[in-house]
Amino acid sequence: METINKPKTTIVIFGVTGDLAKRKLFPSIYNLFKKGLLSENFAVVGVARRPWTNEILRSNVCEAVKNEVDPDAGELEGFCSHFHYLPFDVSREESFDELNSLIGDLEEKHSIPGNRIFYMAMAPQFFGTIASSLKSRGLTETEGWSRLVIEKPFGHNLPSAKELNEQIREAFNEDQIYRIDHYLGKEMVQNIEVIRFANAMFEPLWNNRYISNIQITSSESLGVEDRGGYYDTSGALRDMVQNHMLQMVSLLAMDPPIRLTTEEIRSEKIKVLRAMRKVSSDEVEDYFVRGQYGPGEIKGKEVPGYRSENNINPDSQTETFVAGKLMIDNHRWAGVPFYIRTGKRMAVKSTKIVIQFKELPMNIYETKNSDTHPNLLVIHIQPDEGITLLLNSKKNDSSGGTAPVHLHFSNNSVNTVNTPEAYERLLHDCMLGDATNFTHWDEVDLSWAFIDTISEYWENSKEELPNYSSGTMGPEESDELLKKDGFHWWPLNEDGE
Ligand code: NAP
Repeated sequence: METINKPKTTIVIFGVTGDLAKRKLFPSIYNLFKKGLLSENFAVVGVARRPWTNEILRSNVCEAVKNEVDPDAGELEGFCSHFHYLPFDVSREESFDELNSLIGDLEEKHSIPGNRIFYMAMAPQFFGTIASSLKSRGLTETEGWSRLVIEKPFGHNLPSAKELNEQIREAFNEDQIYRIDHYLGKEMVQNIEVIRFANAMFEPLWNNRYISNIQITSSESLGVEDRGGYYDTSGALRDMVQNHMLQMVSLLAMDPPIRLTTEEIRSEKIKVLRAMRKVSSDEVEDYFVRGQYGPGEIKGKEVPGYRSENNINPDSQTETFVAGKLMIDNHRWAGVPFYIRTGKRMAVKSTKIVIQFKELPMNIYETKNSDTHPNLLVIHIQPDEGITLLLNSKKNDSSGGTAPVHLHFSNNSVNTVNTPEAYERLLHDCMLGDATNFTHWDEVDLSWAFIDTISEYWENSKEELPNYSSGTMGPEESDELLKKDGFHWWPLNEDGE
């Protein structure tokens, strides 16, 4: 039983000296260890070019864990002793032989039966080469299982994603490949499925007869920070929409799976992506809006425009904001727009989903001078986690009219000390061989096919950019997109933004 829940595993981190390893992977592995979700028989091998030693890596791991979580001092040293460093250059084939031999020694020392996770925490141009060399140098031939964890971005368009996929598929089967979309590890994103499929009151209403539109916002108040080099070649459409936003759309729109298995859930999500209406180049402006932030003010502090940030082309046409209207052409959703928006340097930092229900056939309270409010179900993903249901109730006076009330459940106020962070959950799933919350190739394929027309259109057309000030909710055209359908974005905070 213990081995099933806690498989004895070696985790190999490619790019162990980088930012992702430090901020996300070390604290996540530590939390799994602290919660008793890791077998005592585990080893972490970190590789990168710089001439570190085991001691340097271990002290960096300790430091990173202390920065992110509150570790148990007595345990931390023991935990760090499981980490091993190997100076390594991906372009040198011999590096892979040295790695194989080190893993072999550790497997023997810790009685690990050849279970290996290869985690690609490096720039994407290395993913294919690493996968090929892992196979050609025999690292995937083990007594146990081997799995490949791939970070985003998975390609920058459909052809490049296909090329990368073909390369890694020569070394790993689809069921050994774990493509990370960390949104799928978030508590409230995972909760979408439960809210929908475990409540008799929602599922019967979850269709075009009762829902008028769905709005998904993922806004950041930060700018590009130190990711300028990458971001300027990517933009919000590729960085956020192709993966995280479309994943949330498919979770909201999918039919109930017949069982909670990886295959059944993925198959329902894939159907949604297949039903998504393609936007042709001459329709892009009807369905999508792009924006780029100019200078402005965030929390009373002046901030520069995108084009003045580090490593950004001063004439950049890269979008830092996208709003879009998606139509899902199937029986359940025909006629219901799914509006998405995501951007940087916006007025608020918030990821939220608002499900707006249709109005009643008539408002009998009109005579009481009362506008009934549309019923809303709000799913708060981050930074707040929770659910709000907006209902109409009797006004607290003698007018006999109505007033909106909010039924609110805040996940932040329950004990969240033990709530796992997204990466922690996903690493654990990977160890257990559960790929449900990872992206299948078919999802990547369909989402790039959808996105590519839009990005190609934008690449070939110039726009007056920047077109929104930092500290706002994006360009006016984003509001127009909903206005022409008779809707508006619901505010994300009490200031009405
Ligand atoms: P990073 O800080 O630039 O780290 C890159 C790592 O690769 C370093 O450890 C570097 O170490 C190593 N490296 C570079 N060239 C190498 C070579 N030829 N051989 C061996 N190692 C080499 O990047 P990151 O921010 O951690 O991101 C890693 C991946 O995660 C990227 O695909 C990124 O898109 C993705 N990602 C990151 C985040 C995040 O929060 N950082 C979030 C989502 C996705 P040396 O210089 O010592 O070789």
